[in-house]
Amino acid sequence: MVEDVCAWARHESPTDDAAAVDGMMDLLVAGLDGDPVTIERIPGRDGLGGSVILRAGPATSEKPALVLSHLDTVHPIGTAASDLPVRVEGDRLYGPGVYDMKGGAYLALQGFLEVARRGTAKRPMVFLFTPDEEIGSPTTRALIEHLGRDAAAVLVTEPARDGGKIVTCRKGVGRFDVHVEGRPAHSGSRHPDGRNAIYEAARQISAIEAMTDYSRGITTTVGLIKGGTAMNTIPQHCRFSIDLRVETAADGEELSAKILALAPQKPDFRVTVTGGMNRPPFERTPEVAALFDTASALASEIGFTLVETERTGGGSDGNFTAGLGVPTLDGLGIDGDGAHTLAEYGLVSSLGPRAMLAARLLETV
Ligand SMILES: [Zn+2]
Repeated sequence: MVEDVCAWARHESPTDDAAAVDGMMDLLVAGLDGDPVTIERIPGRDGLGGSVILRAGPATSEKPALVLSHLDTVHPIGTAASDLPVRVEGDRLYGPGVYDMKGGAYLALQGFLEVARRGTAKRPMVFLFTPDEEIGSPTTRALIEHLGRDAAAVLVTEPARDGGKIVTCRKGVGRFDVHVEGRPAHSGSRHPDGRNAIYEAARQISAIEAMTDYSRGITTTVGLIKGGTAMNTIPQHCRFSIDLRVETAADGEELSAKILALAPQKPDFRVTVTGGMNRPPFERTPEVAALFDTASALASEIGFTLVETERTGGGSDGNFTAGLGVPTLDGLGIDGDGAHTLAEYGLVSSLGPRAMLAARLLETV
């Protein structure tokens, strides 16, 4: 398994490189030689890679179990050759996307194939591999919801949190883009004529950051900004993006409305906001709790303890299926740390037990 995960990590697949992501899907499919699964490939669109759907298990009309993994990563091509070489150090397997989430996708696939070969699936099994989770799944959300709506349960192989914990609730995520338009002018000779778009954006950003309310679990972050054309020109344009996280659907509606209603604070500016809630909150329903209890009991049989995390601020594709009310369990991937950083690693010792847990879930749930 370690060799295979290394090979997957070496095949870099940043979301925005469709050919690289498709190549990763090829590598996945090439590894399925002779396994009792049907393979469906869905071509990518809008400049992104395609998806792969594997189906196995009994051909009944029962609701299937759905496994969700994404094979894109946040790391640009060349990361493995420079800052994050694929390597094993003790129990740690380092490499781009090992933890988020090629290690998890790989181990769940091993569990899935094992159950398919043994013919012991509890119900039909569907495994969806997507190309665009790291940018909010713009081209696969409909597919995820389509497959999720019919599923009896959804298992998501995002990384396990601190010490192998499972995720049973996640914040909802909103994404917004703001365009501030002012009036350009020479910064020396015509300063009073200018309307500085960056300055107006700064006022807007203060207001946006002030919407953060930790007591309600609401956070707003302006994480990207771009503006101006030259040091000695009063800038006409400034653009920035807002990341919103909320615990409840009601807060998502309230904060989205506030952000979309942003208006200029000074005259002669135009402020345009686009965007909205991207992922609904993943709330811990009684069905989710029951699914966790089943997983926890199976983990004890295998020999490890499954613990739930506190609610995590990170969204995932699990939010889409949980948002439809389908019992969803997330964080079933590899244990490790350093997601989205150059110190990303997975723990080799978590591969076996967690592959076994994926298999047992598919035999039980
Ligand atoms: Zn991920």
